[in-house]
Amino acid sequence: MGISRQHDYIPAHLPTEAAKESAWVLVLLEKKILMKKVGDKFYIPEANDIDNLIINDKTMEYIGKYDGHDCYCKRLNEIAELPDYLELIDLMKITNLSDDSGLFMLAGTANHILHWYSVNQYCGCCGHKTLDKKDERARICPNCGNIVYPRISPATITAVFRDDQILLAHNRNFKKDLYSLIAGFVEPGETLEQCVTREIGEEVGIKVKNIRYFSSQPWPFPDSLMMAFTAEYESGELIVDNCEIMEAAWYKADSLPEIPSSDSIAGKIIRWYRDQTVTSSNYKE
Ligand SMILES: [Zn+2]
Repeated sequence: MGISRQHDYIPAHLPTEAAKESAWVLVLLEKKILMKKVGDKFYIPEANDIDNLIINDKTMEYIGKYDGHDCYCKRLNEIAELPDYLELIDLMKITNLSDDSGLFMLAGTANHILHWYSVNQYCGCCGHKTLDKKDERARICPNCGNIVYPRISPATITAVFRDDQILLAHNRNFKKDLYSLIAGFVEPGETLEQCVTREIGEEVGIKVKNIRYFSSQPWPFPDSLMMAFTAEYESGELIVDNCEIMEAAWYKADSLPEIPSSDSIAGKIIRWYRDQTVTSSNYKE
């Protein structure tokens, strides 16, 4: 069980050698990323593809190596007219337009780092301008010494099973007719399992048991880490909170509603359930 990462990504805050013209540069503008078009496929541009972004740009952040490529990122507020081979692509559509399913998460990582960077330019304690800390990825306040690391906000997401059925819910913020798993942020003082129990109780009114870890996925929009679990129905009737969750029901594998894309861990777990249930007709959790 679980979902492995198909690509080799090694996070780092500084490169091991000087930036090369072949380094990848992830340029973000609002919720879009600049990509290089070759035929009908899109790739992350190399530094030498982007004339107006020099590789020694001091505002670029290094984010590590992806399949051996040094990766830098930068956010722009506006962009000049683009050459034919560059296009701005919606971050959420990268997977459909590229052969490399790992680029979605790489672009998300750039989004996470750049968001953190932009909201920590000033110290939260004394208001002084912060500086890059030299030996690790952090901002440090030269006035009071406050250090700010990139924030990661943990959240749980749970696939609840009742016999051969899975619980799916429609969240107020989802697009029409889309159903997914119950998810929510971990509160201070809470274990992951307590978070699972509380969120399911609050949002759909049932109790669950046998909570088991499944897998995890960064969700860097802007800074979540989703921790996925499976659980079994224990008791209670489905009663939605009508605040976040508008509808919830039990679904069989062969009659699922519209579900999230397989880019998200929710989409991956629901497909895992469907595929193993369909291939194993006597499946009982
Ligand atoms: Zn300070």
